[in-house]
Amino acid sequence: SLHLDKKPDWIRVKLPNNPVFWDTKSMVKDLKLVTVCEEAQCPNRWECWGQGTATFMIAGEKCTRACGFCAVKTAKPDALEEDEPQRVAEATRRMKLNHVVITAVARDDLADGGAEHFEKTIEAVREVNPGITIEVLVPDFNDKDWALEMVMRAKPQIFNHNLETVRRLTPLVRSRAQYDRSLAVLKKAKAMAPGKVATKSGIMLGLGERDEEIEQAMDDLRAADVTVLTLGQYLRPTPMHLPVVEYVTPEKFAEWKAVAEAKGFRHVASGPLVRSSYHAADFKPELDLE
Ligand code: SF4
Ligand code: SF4
Repeated sequence: SLHLDKKPDWIRVKLPNNPVFWDTKSMVKDLKLVTVCEEAQCPNRWECWGQGTATFMIAGEKCTRACGFCAVKTAKPDALEEDEPQRVAEATRRMKLNHVVITAVARDDLADGGAEHFEKTIEAVREVNPGITIEVLVPDFNDKDWALEMVMRAKPQIFNHNLETVRRLTPLVRSRAQYDRSLAVLKKAKAMAPGKVATKSGIMLGLGERDEEIEQAMDDLRAADVTVLTLGQYLRPTPMHLPVVEYVTPEKFAEWKAVAEAKGFRHVASGPLVRSSYHAADFKPELDLE
C-alpha cells in the first residue's frame, strides 16, 4: 500500500532565516493586502519573501468557485476595494520589486469577473514603478472577450493562466473551469497583444495523471501558443481536499522539463516545489518577444 500521508524529503521546506521575510509579512498586513503565498499555503513563502518577492491576490480572498486542490475559501465575495490598486502599487514600491505577480480569485459574481480591477491594478503599479515587469495570473473571466480585453489593454508583460491538470482530470480537479476554455483564453490573450505579451501556464503533477496525458496537455498548450510552463507537485492543503496520488520525484520533474523544452516551450520551471509564480522574476519576457 502507499503511504502518501508522509511527505518525501524533497518536499520539506526550510525554516525562515531571513529577517526580510518578517518585514514583508508585517508590511503586507499594514497595507491590508492579501498574498497568494499565504492563502495557498505555498511551500516557498519563506524563500520568496526572504528574497522580497510576493504574489498579490486582489479582489478579496473569498472565491466563487471551489476547486478540489485549492486552499482559498469558497464564499460570497466582498465588494471590491477601490483603493486596493494603489495599495498594491505602494507594496511593490516599498519592496523595491522589479517583478510582481498579480492574481485574483474567480469573481463570477461580477459581470467582468474582476477584469477592470486587474486593469486598474496594473496601471497603478506601473505608475509608481515604471520599470517593473508585471505578470498577471488570471481566472478565465468565463471566456468573455471584452473582459479579457480590459486586462490586455493595460499591457501586462506576462499573461499567466493555469491549465492546472490534464483534460481527463479537469472535472474532478477544477470547479466550473474547462480545459478547452482555458486553452482558448490563453490563445486569445496572446492574439490580443501580438509580440507584446508572453503567455504562461502551469500543470500540477501527482493528481493521478498519466504520462501520455501530460504530453498531450503540453501539446495543447503549445498549440495555443504558450511558451512558458510551470510543473509542480500537487500538495493537499487539508484533508478536505483531493488526495495526493503520487509524489513525483525530482528526477522525473527534470525529465519533464526536457520533454517540455523539446516541444518548444522557451522557459520551463519544473520541480516538486515549483508554483505558478515560483522564481517568476528569473524569466525575462523580453527574451520571449519577437
Ligand atoms: Fe508566493 Fe509564488 Fe513564491 Fe509561492 S512561489 S511564495 S505564491 S511568490
Ligand atoms: Fe482557488 Fe482559483 Fe479555483 Fe478559486 S478559481 S477555488 S482561487 S483555484
